Amino acid sequence: MERFTKSKTMIFPREIIVGHKTTSKVAELCNRMVRGNSVLIVVDKKTKKLSGGEIVKILKKSDYIVNEKIVTTATVGQVNKLINYAKKRDIDILLGIGGGSVIDVTKLAAFELSRPFISVPTCASHDGIASPRASLKHRTGSVSKTASSPLAVLADTEIICKAPFRMLAAGCADVISNLSAVMDWKLAQRLKHEEYSSHAAVLAETAAQLVMDHADEIIPDVEKSAWIAVKAMIVSGVSMSVAGNTRPASGAEHMFSHMLDHLGPGIMLKGKKRKKPLHGEQCGIGAIMMVYLHGGNWEKVRDALKKIGAPITSEELSVSKKKIIEALVKAHEIRPERYTILGETGLTEKAAKAVAKQTGVI
Ligand SMILES: [Zn+2]
Repeated sequence: MERFTKSKTMIFPREIIVGHKTTSKVAELCNRMVRGNSVLIVVDKKTKKLSGGEIVKILKKSDYIVNEKIVTTATVGQVNKLINYAKKRDIDILLGIGGGSVIDVTKLAAFELSRPFISVPTCASHDGIASPRASLKHRTGSVSKTASSPLAVLADTEIICKAPFRMLAAGCADVISNLSAVMDWKLAQRLKHEEYSSHAAVLAETAAQLVMDHADEIIPDVEKSAWIAVKAMIVSGVSMSVAGNTRPASGAEHMFSHMLDHLGPGIMLKGKKRKKPLHGEQCGIGAIMMVYLHGGNWEKVRDALKKIGAPITSEELSVSKKKIIEALVKAHEIRPERYTILGETGLTEKAAKAVAKQTGVI
C-alpha cells in the first residue's frame, strides 16, 4: 500500500462579527484578539470619516495606544510605507478599515510584519474581506498576492449599506463568479491532475448560491442586502482558506477581468459618464461567458446578475465591444500556470466573438 504523506495547513479567521452597529464592539474584539495595547489603524480619507474616527475614539477610551495611517492606493509602495511606519512603533495588531485597497494593503503589511490583522470592511465590493489573498495595482494592471487570512472580521452592515449600491452589486457578482472558477478547477483536476479540494469547491459554490437565491433581496438602501452579501463573501473567503489558494474563487473569469485592467483605461466607452468598471462587475460578465464555454447554465448566472443590478453587457459595463474581445483572446496570458477553459493557447478572435455574442455580452 502506498504510504500516506499528505499534509496541509489551513488558516481561518478566529472571530467574525457581522451585523447592525457592530463597530461598537471593536474594543471588546481587540481585547480578545491581542495581549498588547498598541493598535495601528489603516484608513483612507473617506473611511476615516465614515468609521475610522469612531473606532479610534472607542479604542482610546479602552486604553489602547492608537496609531493611524492613511493609504491612498493598493500598491507595493503603500505596503512598504505601512511596514516601515509599523516597524518604528511596536504594533501589536493592525486594523484595516475600508474597501478593497485599504484591506489589501493592511493584509499584506500584516503578513510581512508577522502581526495579526482585523478586517473592517466599509463596503463589500469584492470577496477579499475575509480571504488570504490581496491584489495590488501596478503599472500594467493588477497582481494577486498571497497573504494571511484576517484574524477577525468586523463588518458593520449599517456602514456597508451606506456605500454606493454599485459596489455591493459588484461584490455579489464577484461571489457569483465562483461558479465558473470551480468549473475551471474541476477541469484542471481532470486534465492536469491539479490538486482539488471538494470541500473548498462546495463552500465556494454555496457562497455563489447564497447570493443567487437571495438576488431579489439585494436592493439599494436595505441593510439586509449587505448582510447577505457579506455572509456570502465570508464563506467565499473561507473556501480560499480551505484550498490554500484562490482556485475556488478565481478562474478564467478573473483572468478576463485582470486582462481588462491590463488593457487600461482605453477600455472605456467614449462619451459615457460612468466610472471605471469594478473588479466584481468584470468578473460577473466573465463568469457568464466562461460558464457558457463550460456548457453550464449561463442564463442562470446572467439572470441573477441582472436581478442584483450588476452589468451583463459590454454597454452596461462601459467597455467597448472590441476590448471585450481583446480581453477574451488574451486572458489566458494572465496566469499561464492556472489551467482553465481557455486552455493553454486561449480563444481565437472568432471564438471570442461567438461567445460574447451568444451570451448577449456584445
Ligand atoms: Zn474577485
